[in-house]
Amino acid sequence: MVITRFAPSPTGYLHLGNARTAIFSYLFARHHNGKFILRIEDTDLERSTKEFEETLIEDLLWLGLEWDEFYRQSERFDIYRQYAQKLIELGHAYPCFCSPEELEEERQRAVEKGVAYRYSGKCRVLSQEEVEYLKSIGKPYTIRFKVPHSQDVVFEDIIRGHISINTDDFGDFVIVRSDGTPTYNFVVVIDDALMGITHVIRGEDHIPNTPKQILIYRALGFSLPQFAHLPVILGEDRSKLSKRHGAVSVKNYREDGYLPEAMLNYLCLLGWSPPQEGREIYTKQELIELFDIKDVNTSPAVFSKEKLKWMNGVYIRQVLDIETLIDRIIPFLESAGYQVEDRNYLRKVLEKTRDSFETLKEAVERLRPFFVDEFELSEELWNELENAKAYDILSLLLKKIKERELNAQSIKEIAKEVQKELNVKAKDVWHLLRIALTGQLQGVGVDIMCDVLPKDRVLKRIERLLQ
Ligand code: GLU
Repeated sequence: MVITRFAPSPTGYLHLGNARTAIFSYLFARHHNGKFILRIEDTDLERSTKEFEETLIEDLLWLGLEWDEFYRQSERFDIYRQYAQKLIELGHAYPCFCSPEELEEERQRAVEKGVAYRYSGKCRVLSQEEVEYLKSIGKPYTIRFKVPHSQDVVFEDIIRGHISINTDDFGDFVIVRSDGTPTYNFVVVIDDALMGITHVIRGEDHIPNTPKQILIYRALGFSLPQFAHLPVILGEDRSKLSKRHGAVSVKNYREDGYLPEAMLNYLCLLGWSPPQEGREIYTKQELIELFDIKDVNTSPAVFSKEKLKWMNGVYIRQVLDIETLIDRIIPFLESAGYQVEDRNYLRKVLEKTRDSFETLKEAVERLRPFFVDEFELSEELWNELENAKAYDILSLLLKKIKERELNAQSIKEIAKEVQKELNVKAKDVWHLLRIALTGQLQGVGVDIMCDVLPKDRVLKRIERLLQ
């Protein structure tokens, strides 16, 4: 059975790159009717926070990536301790008593010589007695993995193909810090092995870690998973996607009124091309059916916020059914203080306006006139109303609207009659009607407003300007 995992560190908000990693791991597992595991990698107790963990979980659930098993590394320290002990017993790891100052000196010497630093291995040769003595006097120590010299560690990456890294590129690395907490490269192996992970899918920044991990697998006699390292995501200026490119956390997009379906769809296309050329909109179920990790490109993907926004618009306009759209938009409208108890009214509003905004946050502004009767007019707009013609136009509009039914068609007829009877321009009639109904110079169509807004509210808004 295929078992994948997503293993975020709760040291920041879930960013788009990691979200894509989670999506690919999820789709791959679901495609194979396998298992998808969420593992919180919080061994760095200082940098990990509960708030980040909670937000991370909310983001994943929001994206629709439900998991089959959940683990938190901070609850598994006993397990790691046992395996660290085992590695020592097997002669694959040893306590290292070098102080930070000594290590710094070593590092300086490497810098002076112009060579890449790696740990000298000084503590490899300590005798059992020396180790016992240093422990007995309370000297702090780390535990290091004993890396064999000059060995090529080779693996076949599902995406990148053949990768070979020589062990001389890294020295004996720390697997347990002096405060007793285990390090990433160590625990990731223990967990992936014990959890039966068959495919490790993660960002390519982890390629240099993979040989270290493979050495631990071998030392403990665990069988190796397959590795798939995903290409990086770049911003449109071709530098690695980061905060400089604007919002990069899922939370940000969630709060800005992006839809999870659109996010999932868009992120999937970053580095993966579906078989059907030219088609871009896919449901989650279709993605599960089509996705194969083998088809992920090796070249970096470029994130375009505009494209994502466009896709979000497509989901709002065409893909989501109206009832779902209503459910999604209500919290946004409510948080802006709009009264939205009348679902039928909101449905009518959305049926006419859903093609005029691309995010739910944009909808809040766009739909304001449908929900807010009292609005301030700018001085500029008041000045326009001072004009004698404006009074006549609004009065006649009011009279005519009162006399008949109001809808998109009738308002056009009314406007035409007013225009003729007062000998004014059509544009002026519509302009005044817009000011009266919305208090703005742009926005949703006045005819649409007349179609949806109850007549008494239309009348009230015009009357307000005539007082
Ligand atoms: N906690 C690691 C990270 O967030 C996980 C890497 C991995 O998937 O092995 O980068």
